[in-house]
Amino acid sequence: MVMCRCGRQTGIKTSWTDINPGRQFYTCVQLRSRCKFFAWIDPPMCPRSVQVIRGLMDTKVVLENEVKFLREEVRMYKEQVAEMENKNPRVVLNRDTCLIICWILFFFCPYLYLSLAVFKFMQLM
Ligand SMILES: [Zn+2]
Repeated sequence: MVMCRCGRQTGIKTSWTDINPGRQFYTCVQLRSRCKFFAWIDPPMCPRSVQVIRGLMDTKVVLENEVKFLREEVRMYKEQVAEMENKNPRVVLNRDTCLIICWILFFFCPYLYLSLAVFKFMQLM
């Protein structure tokens, strides 16, 4: 536990500057504090590490922008689908509707069969 000049426990933050990307440091947690306490936790990085982290951060920004763009595109397509469904509501056969149709057919088929049998029997007489 590292204590600040103003007597409080310090907080841990991460630097995202070009020189120290991803490097953690202790700082004063008091908002608008005058003590301005600052101490590095991590040792300085080698230039290659800094270069790799910067490259990863650039890639992250590119991917985040792509995600934002694709989310916007998905939102637009969903709006188009909703608009099309409003114009042409489709008949949705859900599970309950299918079950009801099956029951109707189940009771109707024997009735039809018996009716035809009676009809043929009446023709023979
Ligand atoms: Zn402080």
